[in-house]
Amino acid sequence: MDPPDGDVRHMSAAIRTPLMIVGAGPTGLAAALFLSRRGVPVRIIDAATQPTTTSKALLVNPRSLEILGAYGVAARIIAEGYEVMGVTMHRGGREVVSIDLQRELRSQLPIGLAQARTEALLTEALQAKGIHVERGVTLQTLQQDAEQVTVTLQHADGGTQTVQAPLVFGADGARSAVRHALGIDFAGDALPEPWQLWDLRLRTSLDRQRVHIGLVPDGFLFLMHLQAGVWRVIGNGADPLAQLPGDSVAGEVQWQSQFHIAHRLADKFSVGRVALGGDAAHIHSPLGARGMNLGIEDAWVFADCAVDAMAGKLERMQEYAELRQPVDRQVVRNVAAVTRLMRGRPTALRWLRDNLAPQAIKLAPVRHRLLQTMSGLDHPLRTRC
Ligand SMILES: Cc1cc2nc3c(=O)[nH]c(=O)nc-3n(C[C@H](O)[C@H](O)[C@H](O)COP(=O)(O)OP(=O)(O)OC[C@H]3O[C@@H](n4cnc5c(N)ncnc54)[C@H](O)[C@@H]3O)c2cc1C
Repeated sequence: MDPPDGDVRHMSAAIRTPLMIVGAGPTGLAAALFLSRRGVPVRIIDAATQPTTTSKALLVNPRSLEILGAYGVAARIIAEGYEVMGVTMHRGGREVVSIDLQRELRSQLPIGLAQARTEALLTEALQAKGIHVERGVTLQTLQQDAEQVTVTLQHADGGTQTVQAPLVFGADGARSAVRHALGIDFAGDALPEPWQLWDLRLRTSLDRQRVHIGLVPDGFLFLMHLQAGVWRVIGNGADPLAQLPGDSVAGEVQWQSQFHIAHRLADKFSVGRVALGGDAAHIHSPLGARGMNLGIEDAWVFADCAVDAMAGKLERMQEYAELRQPVDRQVVRNVAAVTRLMRGRPTALRWLRDNLAPQAIKLAPVRHRLLQTMSGLDHPLRTRC
């Protein structure tokens, strides 16, 4: 997908002041890349002194690859990662569902690649445009008037700085300081149980190019190959590693974490000259693999709106909110519904899941809808209302 033509020729000298991007996760990096390609000056800061090294999101979906195609990043993701060929569902020691993505998807296949590598490739593309993430720089306060946004930044050496920006994009994650500064509510709910996560060596005959889902008596299991015999395992049962499918045996652990799943959506996606994107605007369960991908899509739409806003059409900031909030709300709802069904509790829902879900997925329309959600192709990508 080619980037839409921006018309930055009409920017006055005053608005050559850089647009401020807060947060250099995938959402902020992607926004910086899209904007700089269209001639918008950007400044991107991140509180962390080093880039992330944890794998987190493992799946780059076809929608993100379509968006990143014109920037050379998709080709590098495809070259470095692997094509995910299918999804297999296991229950009671046997395969109950097997989906062949090559046959079902009429798009590029999703690519398996650790989020840290996706971020590194975005960063390299940005550096090639002469833009470097300013690390160890934390946004502390934000205020705006009709003309500009004023932020205070704290640097790692303890120094503070007050700077002005014509627009700010808050891509600073689930605990977003930008969202707090705007007083925007982040309503939703959380599942009570902790989910455990491992990146570990696995001795297994499971197909490495497929995502594996386990329907186990006390919960849900997710397995996906990361690289060189290291797999991601996620589960919400009491002892997920004791219930691995097939002949799988857990080995050396490389990374272990625990998290709670919440489904939340920001009440507003923009206020005046400031907008939110990615986890700052929405969070949901990793089932469906949408978090990082939805952030990249927010960044794409924001960039298109911000090019016009920088040229004086400030109403495009509100249009960004109108374009993204309904789409992101629907994705959060869908992912929440699938997660509630698949998590395997309470007992009545588990019975439904174990007995009806595998049969339902065999029905073409149900399977199609699930795969569209996983691919990010469940809605048109619009940059104008
Ligand atoms: C275990 C796990 C598995 C996941 N699996 C998937 C998956 O398969 N597919 C998928 O699409 N998603 C997945 N996700 C979700 C995905 O990781 C997130 O949705 C994604 O990282 C969001 O990107 P972001 O850029 O919006 O926010 P973040 O990645 O959270 O980045 C925000 C950045 O802002 C910085 N920051 C925060 N506050 C400030 C401040 N005040 N000033 C300056 N900088 C600040 C932070 O240091 C951080 O670098 C998973 C997440 C987890 C935890």
